[in-house]
Amino acid sequence: MSQGNPIPDPPDRQPAATSPPRPKASKCPCCGHYTLRPTAKVHRVCRYRLVVLTLPARLLVPTCSRCKHNLLSFDAVPELATTLEAEYRAELSRRAAAEISFLSGVCSQRQLEIRIDLSQGYLSRLRAGDGVPSAALVSLLALLRADPHRLEELSTYWALPLPSEPSPRKRKQDA
Ligand SMILES: [Zn+2]
Repeated sequence: MSQGNPIPDPPDRQPAATSPPRPKASKCPCCGHYTLRPTAKVHRVCRYRLVVLTLPARLLVPTCSRCKHNLLSFDAVPELATTLEAEYRAELSRRAAAEISFLSGVCSQRQLEIRIDLSQGYLSRLRAGDGVPSAALVSLLALLRADPHRLEELSTYWALPLPSEPSPRKRKQDA
């Protein structure tokens, strides 16, 4: 130890130019070890509003390398809110485009627009990925695609007056 030679680098040390500094670890709230670091990971899913979304792999989420606990929260991941909103909107567009394509085998886009009271060309624009539909419209398209005969049912529905509401007493008896 006292030979005066410079201490050689450990053989596994990476040159600083090619490896970014490892983020500082913080304490894992689950296992208590200092092994929690911002970590990128593929196939990370998260439910947001209606949809289970796959998060972008690049999103850094504090994750424990020891017990795998992760802190997927708005506090721990500052860009989570904007990421989720962007992914949600993209998912609405993707799903609308897919449902419109399926339905175009059953009914022309213009006919569909007329039957659910959309402006002319709106479905073409959505199918091309232009614009973000409401989740309600995507839900309706999905239900119609699963059972296209219900388009007829909608025509009948709008042609008839509302059925009269059951009286409160009747409702009570039914309950
Ligand atoms: Zn842990």
